[in-house]
Parts: sequence; structure tokens; C-alpha cells
Amino acid sequence: MIEVRNLTKRYGATTAVDGLDFRVEPGRVTGFLGPNGAGKSTTLRMVLGLDRPTAGEALVHGRPYAELEAPLRRVGALLDAHAVHGGRTARGHLRWLAASNGLPRRRLDEVLQQVGLAEAADRRIKGFSLGMRQRLGVAAALLGDPPVLLLDEPVNGLDPEGIRWIRTLLRGLAGEGRAVLVSSHLMAEMALTADHLVVVGRGRLLADLSTEAFLAQH
Ligand code: ADP
Ligand code: ADP
Repeated sequence: MIEVRNLTKRYGATTAVDGLDFRVEPGRVTGFLGPNGAGKSTTLRMVLGLDRPTAGEALVHGRPYAELEAPLRRVGALLDAHAVHGGRTARGHLRWLAASNGLPRRRLDEVLQQVGLAEAADRRIKGFSLGMRQRLGVAAALLGDPPVLLLDEPVNGLDPEGIRWIRTLLRGLAGEGRAVLVSSHLMAEMALTADHLVVVGRGRLLADLSTEAFLAQH
């Protein structure tokens, strides 16, 4: 589903991602675990074709994301929950995203319900807490009914109930056969959410193993 091979990104003298190799398989939640600055966001951006690798490659369904044909291109991504136009309502934001990405609007109410924003759907985003913005970001990622989901630190800003909610949601999505890659710097949270862990530090792969095997070692 997602395959990263020798993926490398340098910004001047900084090596943000340093020869990463890993795969994200369908039907399970893969936790992308590492401290801040480990290169997780940069990796996700390269998988989505938003940043160009200095070396190596990131493939989705066997191809670079930018080369995918429309149906395969449905990858749901949550990158930055802050970067949402605050003047719009939640529903207006999703309607705009659907229109600009050629996605049907028929799933709008369903995803708003799925993320627990049905009642806040017609309120302006600028009054939303960070947790509500995270939920809205997840709704946007789900809009295209994607077989592959990437979420960058979706738990940030969520309260304990929100954290439990996202855990249940991600496990359900993987249970439907989707490939789910979720980044976090919180080991305890990933141990509860992920089936498989890809652990990185300073841009390098430190471990790639089942959560069970990881917990047996720690
Ligand atoms: P993480 O998501 O794990 O916190 P990032 O991928 O955001 O890590 O960052 C990895 C490293 O790359 C950090 O040292 C960061 O400062 C650096 N970096 C990320 N983006 C850029 C950029 N556009 N220009 C320069 N350095 C960057
Ligand atoms: P809008 O109300 O903005 O036109 P809709 O959600 O009603 O958006 O539909 C968007 C497009 O998706 C329409 O062309 C519709 O025919 C199509 N569509 C609706 N339901 C399905 C479905 N189950 N499978 C495939 N296409 C569908």
C-alpha cells in the first residue's frame, strides 16, 4: 500500500529523513513513532508528493503519489489541523474541500457524524478548540472514503475522551481493510492504537516490528 525505500530528505546541512525503509500494510494501524524533529512530517509530506525526496522514493500502490490515477489517488491525510480557514463553518469547509477535490458531497453528513461534529457543523471554525479542528481534519481525510489514511499527530489537542475516540476510529478503519499510518511522539498512546510500529529518531529507522514484539522488549 505504502512503500518507502531509502527515503532521504536534506535541507541544506540538516538531514531530516535519512535512508528510511518501511512498508504500511492494509488492514492494520501502523504507528509512526518518534520524538519531535525525527522526520515524521517530512516523510508524510513526501509520501503525499508535497515534498521531493533528495534520494530514494515513497510509493503508494506501487507508484509515486503524483503519478497515481484518480481512483487510486484517494489518500486521506491530516497534516496540519491549524491550517483551516476560520471564517467558514465546518460543513462549508468540507463542502469546499469536496468541490475542489472532485469528491461527492453525499458523504458530508456521514463524516461529520463519524467525527462527532454533527451538532457543530454549522458553526464557524474560528470558535473551534484544537480538538474540534483535529476532528474536522479527520473528517476531511475521510471524505474520499480512502483506502489509505495518513494522520500526522492526530491526538494533539484532544482530551482523553477524544483520544479514545480516535483510537477506536482508527482501529475500525483498519478493520475495514484500510492502510492506516498515524504519527505520534507518544509511545504509550501508540502502544494502545497501533498493530505495528515504525520507530524513527533523527531521520533514521530504529525499529520496525509488531506492537506486541515492541512491548515485550520494553
Ligand atoms: P517531526 O515531524 O518528526 O517532528 P519534521 O519532519 O517536522 O519532524 O522535521 C525533521 C527535521 O527537519 C527537523 O530538524 C526540522 O527542523 C527539519 N525541517 C523540516 N522541514 C524543514 C524545512 N522546510 N526546512 C528546513 N528544515 C526543515
Ligand atoms: P451534490 O449534491 O453536490 O451534487 P452528491 O453527493 O449528491 O453531490 O453527488 C455527487 C456525485 O456523486 C453525483 O454525480 C452523484 O450522481 C454521484 N453519486 C452519488 N451517490 C453515488 C454512489 N453511491 N456511487 C457513485 N457515485 C455516486
